[in-house]
Amino acid sequence: MRDFHTDHRWLSINTATVRMQHGEPWPLPKILDACAARGIRAVSPWRDQVAAAGLAATAAQLKALELELSGYCRGGLFTYTDAASKQAVRDDNLRALDEACTLGAPCLVLVVGALPGALAGKVAHKDIALARTQVGEGIAWLLEQARARRMPLAIEPLHPMYAADRACVNTLAQALDLCEALDPAPAGEAAALGVAVDAYHVWWDPDLESQIARAGGGSDGDSGRGRGANRLLAFHVCDWLVPTTDLLEDRGMPGDGVIELPRLRGWVEAAGFAGYSEVEIFSRRHWWQREGGEVLDTCIERHRRCV
Ligand code: ZN
Repeated sequence: MRDFHTDHRWLSINTATVRMQHGEPWPLPKILDACAARGIRAVSPWRDQVAAAGLAATAAQLKALELELSGYCRGGLFTYTDAASKQAVRDDNLRALDEACTLGAPCLVLVVGALPGALAGKVAHKDIALARTQVGEGIAWLLEQARARRMPLAIEPLHPMYAADRACVNTLAQALDLCEALDPAPAGEAAALGVAVDAYHVWWDPDLESQIARAGGGSDGDSGRGRGANRLLAFHVCDWLVPTTDLLEDRGMPGDGVIELPRLRGWVEAAGFAGYSEVEIFSRRHWWQREGGEVLDTCIERHRRCV
């Protein structure tokens, strides 16, 4: 397992972590400057932040600062109720894919969607099985577009508390079933469809260790031999606070909660992941009320000590 104690070369900042400071939006160009100034080498920006800053301007700034991406947030939300909403979903995902290509992202992260309308507070139906069918079909369709652009897709299973409104793919096993069905890539080949393992969403899963090994292709980690492609495309970290007071925006800084992050990182690295540990925190009442630079400094310190 890599030693993170002495430097932060494998730290990436999901830019949602500092999307606000003192409760006000912190613009992406300033976030990127602040990351680069601290020797942070990678970020994962959100589409709304990029749209506000301008796609071409963001691409140019990333290049000038020599910042890499550890992912692009996000595509997905595949469920729909009629032909018009189905088309709108597909058009939006194509735009997300093209933006990911322009920014040089290593993958487009997918939050797959759930019951249509639930996110807006008005659910169109209760048929979660139908939602899962539409998600499978949506990913299959987007995968063809993504292959043509050589842009990997990373399914991010979300904690089951989001099954109604954000994602009806809730375990790593479920995500990997989709990957293997839609993209039967053999060992040694780059997966076109993989997973984003977010500690916040999957830490509770009793099958987590074995499913992470499966995501890595079943490799033993030393020989590199596996049964399938390595599908570990991203690793997100934050912490689960006790108590958690908001289902969406009360994520903890690594070290402040109950997730054994070093153990999880050991599992993903043993399975062949050697990329960035991306700190992704939504914290309306705490970290979004701080000064952004202070939050980044804390991320660096916790990355070294608690991840
Ligand atoms: Zn995540």
